[in-house]
Amino acid sequence: MIMHYKVSLLTRTLLLAVVFQVTTSQAQQKFSKRQIEKIKTETLNQVQEQRKNTQVMIDKVFSFAELGFQEFETSAYLTKILEEAGFEVKTGLSGIPTSWMATWSSGEGPVIALGSDVDCIPKASQYPGVAYHKPMVEGAPGHGEGHNSGVPVIITAALALQEQMKKNKLGGTLVIWPGIAEEQLGSKAWYVRDGYFDKIDMCIFTHVSSNLSVSYGQARGTGLISVEYTFDGESAHSAGAPWRGRSALDAAELMNVAWNYKREHLHPLKRSHSIFTDAGDQPNVVPSKASIWYYFRDITYEGIMEMYDDANHIAEGAALMTKTKVSSRVLGSAWPRHFNKVIAEKMYENIQSIGLPEWSEADQQLAKAVQEEVNSNNQKGLATELSELGKPQKNPVSGGSDDIGDISWTIPTVTLRFPSNIPGLQGHHWSNAIAMATPIAHKGATAGAKTVAATVIDFLTQPQLLADAKAYFENVQSKETQYRPMITEKDPPPIYLNKDIMKQYRPEMEQFYFDETKYDSYLEQLNIQYPTLK
Ligand SMILES: [Zn+2]
Repeated sequence: MIMHYKVSLLTRTLLLAVVFQVTTSQAQQKFSKRQIEKIKTETLNQVQEQRKNTQVMIDKVFSFAELGFQEFETSAYLTKILEEAGFEVKTGLSGIPTSWMATWSSGEGPVIALGSDVDCIPKASQYPGVAYHKPMVEGAPGHGEGHNSGVPVIITAALALQEQMKKNKLGGTLVIWPGIAEEQLGSKAWYVRDGYFDKIDMCIFTHVSSNLSVSYGQARGTGLISVEYTFDGESAHSAGAPWRGRSALDAAELMNVAWNYKREHLHPLKRSHSIFTDAGDQPNVVPSKASIWYYFRDITYEGIMEMYDDANHIAEGAALMTKTKVSSRVLGSAWPRHFNKVIAEKMYENIQSIGLPEWSEADQQLAKAVQEEVNSNNQKGLATELSELGKPQKNPVSGGSDDIGDISWTIPTVTLRFPSNIPGLQGHHWSNAIAMATPIAHKGATAGAKTVAATVIDFLTQPQLLADAKAYFENVQSKETQYRPMITEKDPPPIYLNKDIMKQYRPEMEQFYFDETKYDSYLEQLNIQYPTLK
């Protein structure tokens, strides 16, 4: 009896499967497991063959070393590659001159966004491959975060995918885009606000790291709002008639003092930091203008907005105390990140079959020397074992932010972290630039590109995956949390940021731009012995 029931159920299931296959095959081509594996293998081989191009792109962007909103050389260079490959490039998104989106389609199918950041870090100029502090241009910006590697990963994957999509008649659209001014959290919330992701089904983002990994659920770290407060006072001769002045700098300093008292009462998961962006011109003139710029971070939207509200009160208090006026401007924002379970699990299967790169003795020597140089608590060199699939944080951990958070609350998204950097460094520092134009970065990027490409193949060949990813986004992720932008309809992106710094250093930096027509690698152009140890 039980036996009979099982058989009839099986027959019915098979019949249903046949009917389902017939109806769906008209809309979407059906691929067997073997066919998918074959396409994947070919794609991965192609990525491997493209490693020279990947290296050139990484070295080139490293040499441009452009700060947020000033990624002009980087964007011109990368979009040219995509245009030549037949992508249609749109620039000037949300009024940001360095922004772009490059689209290529092989017909009806999923619309998949592939992105990564491109900006660098102030005062992080550093010779690659040299295991101690040696700036290329003293005081200049440098890739002390490693954002020079991300879009090369994406482009390498996209070009391989393009070939396979044509060859196997895989319908779909690839949308390549860079995170502009990620360090200022200055573009992605604007893209969401202005609808650039409305017609995109899912996003695979990548970020440099020291392992090949992916996670789902609430990510480690925080979201934030970035706000600059400007005080307006009255100038006077600081010695001749100080009683006639109303110091804007006094107000900014008092705001800072008050916020530092407030800090005692912040929950440990909250973080905040500030710099003075205008502190007057010279001591004998009472400063009529002064500005202080804050990042307010927390693990929830509500917590972030609460800090923002508290800071607004403190700013008003400081203005009252000094008889000055205060205004504020939102310069950036980032939602706490939540990554998609379905995409992450599929991607992690690919990570396991691709694995970590094979590091050379020279790679390990450099890594260990840098770890020792910065007194890292990890002095084991480069990662040789894959990390686990990242699960939702049981006990949330505070830390950095990334405005990919806003994308992750708009469409199903994951961030692939790829092993192009040395583990155990402090971040936003010259030491984080050392590996970024060496074989470590190049090999890590190839592993990253393979993972991106393989995962996209999965989503192009198995429509159910995208449906499941969307179901997770709708029914699990968005069940209790509703995305609300932190920026208003009117907030413009602060595209003037970093203009003066780049203007100051650009002429000296230009002399170091990588010339791939003359040199095989950037290390060769700079005449660096790899690795250069103390
Ligand atoms: Zn970053």
